[in-house]
Amino acid sequence: MSLLAKFQAVAEVRRSLGEVDPTKVVIERLHSPTLGVINGVATVLAGTNNYLGLTFDAAGVAAGRQAIQDAGTGTTGSRMANGTYAGHVALEAEIADFYGYPHAVVFSTGYAANLGTLAALLGPEDAVLLDADAHASLYDGCRLCQAQVYVFRHNDSSSLDARLTRLGERAANALVVVEGLYSVLGDQAPLAEIAEVKSRRGALLLVDEAHSLGVAGEQGRGVVEAAGILDQVDFVVGTFSKSLGTMGGFCTSRHEELALFTYASRPYMFTASPSPATVECTRSALRALRNRPELKAQLWRNARQLHQGLTQLGLQVGEAPSPVMAVRLADRTEALSAWRKLLEEGVYVNLMLPPAAPSGGSLLRMSVSAAHKPQEIEQIVAAMGKVVAKTDAYLRSTGK
Ligand code: PMP
Repeated sequence: MSLLAKFQAVAEVRRSLGEVDPTKVVIERLHSPTLGVINGVATVLAGTNNYLGLTFDAAGVAAGRQAIQDAGTGTTGSRMANGTYAGHVALEAEIADFYGYPHAVVFSTGYAANLGTLAALLGPEDAVLLDADAHASLYDGCRLCQAQVYVFRHNDSSSLDARLTRLGERAANALVVVEGLYSVLGDQAPLAEIAEVKSRRGALLLVDEAHSLGVAGEQGRGVVEAAGILDQVDFVVGTFSKSLGTMGGFCTSRHEELALFTYASRPYMFTASPSPATVECTRSALRALRNRPELKAQLWRNARQLHQGLTQLGLQVGEAPSPVMAVRLADRTEALSAWRKLLEEGVYVNLMLPPAAPSGGSLLRMSVSAAHKPQEIEQIVAAMGKVVAKTDAYLRSTGK
């Protein structure tokens, strides 16, 4: 097949999505972290991962403006060359201090943080144990370093243990890779169990806290903090693009060797560093995360309100409230149609179609923000009730 001929299949997929392509949604205007205009309709945003609602935070906006004035619009270079400013170094120190570790490295995106950390750690001769539902960036990082990947059942520490047993002596050099809070169903990893297994086998553990930074743990240090394993986890990676409302990513570790990763990480070396405004907005958001615990408390109140509303509708959204919740529909056609109707009702959620969603499901994923007003959550629930609950397709999918 010629290089361009394969796009005929892509065009077919594109046609099957109909007129309103869920991958091409344009937010025409934003009024707040939770309100925007899509297709001319005032819309409640319920699929943004803007967990703490900090994207319009006054202190953050002021810090970004000041940074542009002081240091310009971009760094025009990579961290290795001209792209490390005092702000990047300060942010690294602040992240390390937050976790109580000796060092942190800042990357240009969360995606690059995962690629960059895995690429520094692993080579073709190394084994990596990956949770089946891990994010694409973790799979891509394993591909980049050509490590030998062994996938274990999602959130199943005995499946992990069995895989490590099969590795024999190699288990002691293996890396276990999981997420803290999973990005689609909002379920949390059994990190205490996973840490016990990895310690018993002598392996190392990397946890991607993209969705749990600022969301879980008493001080917002994620599921690693909530599970009490800050002194056992080997590498914590995360992103600034969700709870901190900016862009960029990090890796932090209790191991001093992390300081040397930058010499061995192409995704760190060969891309421009985060802009001064991005860095200063991130530092401001990290201060807010640390000093304003009421944001996390409000996020969880909102998560509970949404969970209760959806459960009362008869929708299955996971047993416990979570800042990420997903409703499974019967199939792709039903999910696409429900997603479109929700948009017409003025509610934006994320559509996840196979193969993107776990176990090939067709899902409507919602994420909650501390900035959602109670009435906005009510609007989400009302729209879900009108569009999704008690549809034939939903009932078929749940066997009710
Ligand atoms: N890890 C996980 C678990 C994610 O969900 C994401 C983003 N969806 C990333 C990493 C990548 O982060 P970013 O979008 O900031 O590059």
